Amino acid sequence: MAETMLAARMHQPGEPLRLDEVPVPSPGYGQVLVKVHACGVCGSDVHFVAGHSPVARTPITLGHEPAGVVHQAGPGVENAAPGQRVAVRPGTRCGECEPCSLGRDNICERSQVLGMHVDGGLAEFVVVPAQDVIPIPEGVSFAQAAIASDAVATPYHALIERGQLRPGETVAVFGCGGLGIHAIRLARLAGAATVVAVDVQPRALERAQRAGADIVINAGEERPSRAIRKALGGADLAVECVGHPDSIGEAARSLKRGGRAVVVGMGDQPVALPPPNAFTWSENALIGSFGSSAGTLRRILAMAASRRLDLSQSVSAVLPLRDVNSALDMLRAPDREVVRVVIEPGR
Ligand SMILES: [Zn+2]
Ligand SMILES: [Zn+2]
Repeated sequence: MAETMLAARMHQPGEPLRLDEVPVPSPGYGQVLVKVHACGVCGSDVHFVAGHSPVARTPITLGHEPAGVVHQAGPGVENAAPGQRVAVRPGTRCGECEPCSLGRDNICERSQVLGMHVDGGLAEFVVVPAQDVIPIPEGVSFAQAAIASDAVATPYHALIERGQLRPGETVAVFGCGGLGIHAIRLARLAGAATVVAVDVQPRALERAQRAGADIVINAGEERPSRAIRKALGGADLAVECVGHPDSIGEAARSLKRGGRAVVVGMGDQPVALPPPNAFTWSENALIGSFGSSAGTLRRILAMAASRRLDLSQSVSAVLPLRDVNSALDMLRAPDREVVRVVIEPGR
């Protein structure tokens, strides 16, 4: 086996990633070495490179959405064997802290995120805990499995587990990038009566319509909360995928009585919310949502395998590892056309 490999590493925030030749890591106890066949590039990677979100150390190999084939299993591994096609969860779980013991391992107190705390999957190989790999069912490609771990599992957790979406409800999705587009598809699958899409980019709204949104609202032209209340009397569930203070405030204002607003978007700016009475009288809720717990990715992959969930349009571009900086540029473009870009290191 080769002793070195290529890895897309971040040396300094604000600089392009460098393609470095580094030693192939070896799996320790309970770990597997995965040969990466595909790795999603997402908005968080753009934030890491820009220095908006800190990484634990530099240089670090980015990439938290890998999928590939188990190449080697370390000692003590029983659930994965070489040759197995696997998707990898973006973050580890300790299994022992309070959230983990309650089945909420996505908020594990000792979680380490691939490509943020430890070397990630934008490389030819990646070492991950064996408990974080999920077999890819037949009929699901590596590229689809790669993006499922974050771009699909995250909105699933937000809508179903945090937002408690029920059939017949009205759902408003704020922000129609990778997360939002899948939130729209999943809301329809879960039986939402009406799905509203909100964005400021006409192109994103067209995409939302193709994904199945019934009503689209350009937040640059009209106030979404007003439009949603006028058209539907308010939303039962609003999912905010942007992390922008205005958009979170509008999501909270768009709710009908008993409604829930779930915030998935990340940001560090303070938010102006409706007054307390809006929450008490109407029993509205504002809920945070992060990633997804371990079982969710398995479900997403099963839905993709059965074709109930169509991920065929979800991967907009596939590039080789050497073009990783172009992949980031595609995501940075203001009127971005892409939903998800995937890197295939084997190309
Ligand atoms: Zn991601
Ligand atoms: Zn834990």
